[in-house]
Amino acid sequence: MGRSSKDKRDIYYRLAKEEGWRARSAFKLLQLDEEFRLFKGVCRAVDLCAAPGSWSQVLSRKLKGDEGKGTEVKIVAVDLQAMAPLPAVTQIQGDITKVSTAQEIIRHFEGQPADLVVCDGAPDVTGLHDVDEYIQAQLLLAALNITTHVLKPGGTFVAKIFRGKDVTLLYSQLKIFFSGVTCAKPRSSRNSSIEAFVVCQGYTPPEGYVPNMSNPLLDHCYDVDFNQLEGPNRVIVPFLACGDLSAYDSDRTYPLQLDPNKAYQYLPPTQPPIQPPYQKACLLRKHNLLAKENLSASSTPEPSACQEQ
Ligand code: SAM
Repeated sequence: MGRSSKDKRDIYYRLAKEEGWRARSAFKLLQLDEEFRLFKGVCRAVDLCAAPGSWSQVLSRKLKGDEGKGTEVKIVAVDLQAMAPLPAVTQIQGDITKVSTAQEIIRHFEGQPADLVVCDGAPDVTGLHDVDEYIQAQLLLAALNITTHVLKPGGTFVAKIFRGKDVTLLYSQLKIFFSGVTCAKPRSSRNSSIEAFVVCQGYTPPEGYVPNMSNPLLDHCYDVDFNQLEGPNRVIVPFLACGDLSAYDSDRTYPLQLDPNKAYQYLPPTQPPIQPPYQKACLLRKHNLLAKENLSASSTPEPSACQEQ
């Protein structure tokens, strides 16, 4: 395959190079902005999971303008990976699942909240769809957690989401914090991909909500004990797998003789049902009255005969 074959196959890949964007994903944010006017009045913006930096480039160009005007504009970009420097963008090499990252962002904004938080985060894809969807959802919840620490009331949060089978659960959780939640698919995001973007507008945390990193699926690594969180602070329903790993697996089939020293012996149920719905059917079968009506046989009993049993 020649060097130009990707240019032929992927128009956004080609355009990104022509226009000087570090990745084709720049067009996703630009197209989201065309629809939602994300950058209107924004001075402080956070780009979570920013490397290699095309979304930060978009923020820089759109908020500061080509001539570098708008000196009050501050952009903070966070990623696990190092990123080549960008004008007007402060970089934090860090993990968005850590509260220390939230604190570092706040320090850069000198205590002022952000107007906009964007997150194009993606874990390394395994190819196992359920696993990928799950990890992506966890990353989105981590981004939401960090957003609750840094976003101003009324602010906007935009994040990549995988439209998997449990996506409505994520929408419900986002709706707790934002007055408007929309799922958007920019033209530059391939139709064959389950990727989309949630645009969450009007940040309104529940009354009394104290920002925390309490995603119960992540916080086993941290000091937060989510069982201590109550009321509006416990908005994410915890899921816990219980029981020792050596306990029987309810989805497996086991041999009848579990104990090699004891022969299998059938035991009747401890308390059979008192009046089960199948009782009548059992009675009919006992009297051979349950067979389907055979129209050709003259000996078929009248249905009323069954009822009288
Ligand atoms: N928006 C970027 C751009 O336009 O250049 C592309 C982002 S790339 C699709 C996804 C990024 O998520 C990767 O750089 C990866 O390092 C980052 N990432 C994944 N998990 C992360 C985490 N827990 N904390 C910070 N960054 C993370």
